[in-house]
Amino acid sequence: MAQPQMRRAIESGVPDNQQFLHPLLKKNYGNWKYHDRPRPGVLHHVAHDGDEVWTVRAGTQRQMDVYTIRRLCDIADQYAEGHVRFTIRSNIEFMVSSFAKVGPLIAELETSGFPVGGTGNSVSMIAHTQGWLHCDIPGTDASGVVKALMDELYDEFRREEMPNRVHLSTSCCEINCGGQADIAIIVQHTKPPKINHDLVANVCERPAVVARCPVAAIRPALVNGKPSLEVDEKKCICCGACYPPCPPMQINDPEHSKLAIWVGGKNSNARAKPTFMKMVAAGLPNHPPRWPEVAEVVKRILHVYKADARPWERLSDWVERIGWPRFFEKTDLPFTKYLIDDWRGARVNLNASTHIRF
Ligand code: SF4
Ligand code: SF4
Repeated sequence: MAQPQMRRAIESGVPDNQQFLHPLLKKNYGNWKYHDRPRPGVLHHVAHDGDEVWTVRAGTQRQMDVYTIRRLCDIADQYAEGHVRFTIRSNIEFMVSSFAKVGPLIAELETSGFPVGGTGNSVSMIAHTQGWLHCDIPGTDASGVVKALMDELYDEFRREEMPNRVHLSTSCCEINCGGQADIAIIVQHTKPPKINHDLVANVCERPAVVARCPVAAIRPALVNGKPSLEVDEKKCICCGACYPPCPPMQINDPEHSKLAIWVGGKNSNARAKPTFMKMVAAGLPNHPPRWPEVAEVVKRILHVYKADARPWERLSDWVERIGWPRFFEKTDLPFTKYLIDDWRGARVNLNASTHIRF
């Protein structure tokens, strides 16, 4: 008798997405005649052979329990055609092949608490890093900031009334997976790490920790007769890079870990070259569960941008046109010494970019 074939484990990489595509998307892959947006939150694709697909995009609370995911799958089975996909900003999209299904699908999604929108010149769902649920070094809950902020920006998600698309992101440490965005909310440590000398020798690979510091502020040291580490606090830029490989160098602090807001980042080459973000607000309290101080500043920047930018200006284009002094005047944000990048390694660091040369 033939032995059953064992499935070979796939150790790396994502599975081929073609097997999960809606049949019409698979059939017409790369062969579309045109697409348009009949209303916010709905994309309409027309293929050369006449096939049509309507995609309805909805927002979720990001980190979802299994019951919510089952509810979304039930909506997909009952009101769409059994296929969903998640966008890069974790919106969920439902595909249907007839316009008649679009209205009931939107009504069901909105009744179930999932707003439809996030397309075109809206404030799309905020990209966030993993936060308290998955990562071991966060200074805040990036996904919590997203939920709190999106509750406040609910209507801007459902409408396309911004001058251009607006991408926001939140990051729960300063050094790892944070993203570029038109407006980014990023943890900002303001004091050097506190070292638990009793644990360093047991837990930390000391040469690796010393090598990790970008400003060479960490040295091996003997403390109370035990091998440990010490930090030159005058050199330390409070980046937090030593904490992941050496948790006894605790840098998260309920009072001194703050949030900063950066603006003007853009990854794409559309219309203008990509841009780096600049910090415009520092030292905001890390204040769960609703982060009201952060929400207030983000909304202020968004409202001024919406009122003042010309059609199709991204946030970085708008600031470039009016200039940074006018940005601070118009948004009524204080310009302080904490916003000046005086790190002398920045010159070398920025030269690593393909777009900026000094
Ligand atoms: S941004 Fe930093 S703390 Fe947040 S998930 Fe990424 S590595 Fe972890
Ligand atoms: S926080 Fe950053 S700069 Fe300060 S000691 Fe640690 S790695 Fe070095």
